[in-house]
Amino acid sequence: MPHELRAQLERLEELFTVPTDLLKRITAHFQSELTKGLSVEGGSIPMVPSWCMSFPTGHETGVFLAIDMGGTNLRVCEITLPEAKGEFEIVQSKYRMPEELKTGTGEELWAYIGDCLKSFIEEQHPGEMLEKLPLGFTFSYPATQEYINHGVLQRWTKGFDIKGVEGTDVIPPFEAALEERGLPIKPTALINDTVGTLIASAYTNDQVRIGCIFGTGCNAAYMERCGSIPKLAHLNLDPDLPMAINCEWGAFDNERVILPRTPYDVIIDKDSPRPGQQTFEKMVAGLYLGELFRLVLLDLHENPDAELFKGQDVGRLRKAYSLDSSVISAIEEDTTDDLAEVAAFFTTTLNLTASPAELELARRLAELISTRSARLSACGVAAICNKMEWKTCAVGADGSLFGMHPYFRTRLAQALREIFGWGVGDVPDPVMVRAAEDGSGVGAALIAALTLKRVEEGIT
Ligand code: BGC
Ligand code: MG
Repeated sequence: MPHELRAQLERLEELFTVPTDLLKRITAHFQSELTKGLSVEGGSIPMVPSWCMSFPTGHETGVFLAIDMGGTNLRVCEITLPEAKGEFEIVQSKYRMPEELKTGTGEELWAYIGDCLKSFIEEQHPGEMLEKLPLGFTFSYPATQEYINHGVLQRWTKGFDIKGVEGTDVIPPFEAALEERGLPIKPTALINDTVGTLIASAYTNDQVRIGCIFGTGCNAAYMERCGSIPKLAHLNLDPDLPMAINCEWGAFDNERVILPRTPYDVIIDKDSPRPGQQTFEKMVAGLYLGELFRLVLLDLHENPDAELFKGQDVGRLRKAYSLDSSVISAIEEDTTDDLAEVAAFFTTTLNLTASPAELELARRLAELISTRSARLSACGVAAICNKMEWKTCAVGADGSLFGMHPYFRTRLAQALREIFGWGVGDVPDPVMVRAAEDGSGVGAALIAALTLKRVEEGIT
């Protein structure tokens, strides 16, 4: 590698590497921010009580609908929970979310969701007279909940910017869209994807205490004690009751005191629809990893000391958000000496010819970006464990980074070992992060079932 590029690579190594001692300091600060978020004054991490107040017993039964409004698809499911735990049935359809919807209006969004549900019901139950079906709505954005089928959107995340929804309860317009279409559906619970993941994972593994999403966005939920939530003290809840907390940890370090942000992180934030928000998420979540990669490559092209892709047309590389995290995964997947796959990616996707040295730099860069993501993510998991004094537990995780990236899981596990200082005696790892059950399908159905049970028992 020419020494100019070598020097640039060393600079990038320096910028993106998070050493063990910093991981530990971030974890400690994260823990105090989690606690602050539960206080009356609050902190940067929202720590939203989700009103999901128990783990499933395995005896939940019934037929439920579930919808999951993701970034690319709207998934609609009908889940049958049978007597025998675990043997649930699920029928589902996916509807592509038009890209314009993400920056459209609230009315368009609710009408679209209503139409998808209408087609689903017509396909699955043609001509049937249905009794009202309970529905769990997985809404993976920060929403303040005063009860379970209520949620005031604090702010959009993950690049969404739909007008007229922030600051309002999303249930009434959704319910209105159902009524307008004469749909026999009752929104029973509004659920964050992390809470769905927590509950779905706990259904099949009773060691699970935390649910995480490492995907387009990043967040976690865990079971707290009501007695440890000062901001709910005025409700006089039984202090021993459990309460799932949707951390919304993407907002960690919005006050900018500890995370080692690079100039590229600063650009991502500035150019996002919500600057100043989701500081942690913008460094770790899938939506931003490909963008970080793109920004660094472009910077190296424009930097006279590096001259990456010298003399070539970088027009395609200039398009914001044109590379997603699957690019990072694909690049790291290539372990051949000549990096043929990486080379092919540059020619086909970006119309660029990369020299062997440029290929090597690109591969290392992808590795640096995704390793930082996994290591910083571990700080959040460790912070929850430390806060709760859990020496050992299982964590259910979902999301595209966790599921598709070739090394995300092993690096996350490695960072946890460094943070906790586990030694040779700690086998298997005391805190183990595992692939979760389907949180927005079976998780949402279970939460709807648990909610109906609480209503029946008069505990609301
Ligand atoms: C949202 C969270 C969500 C996470 C993962 C974040 O952007 O604020 O509510 O859990 O993405 O989908
Ligand atoms: Mg999702």
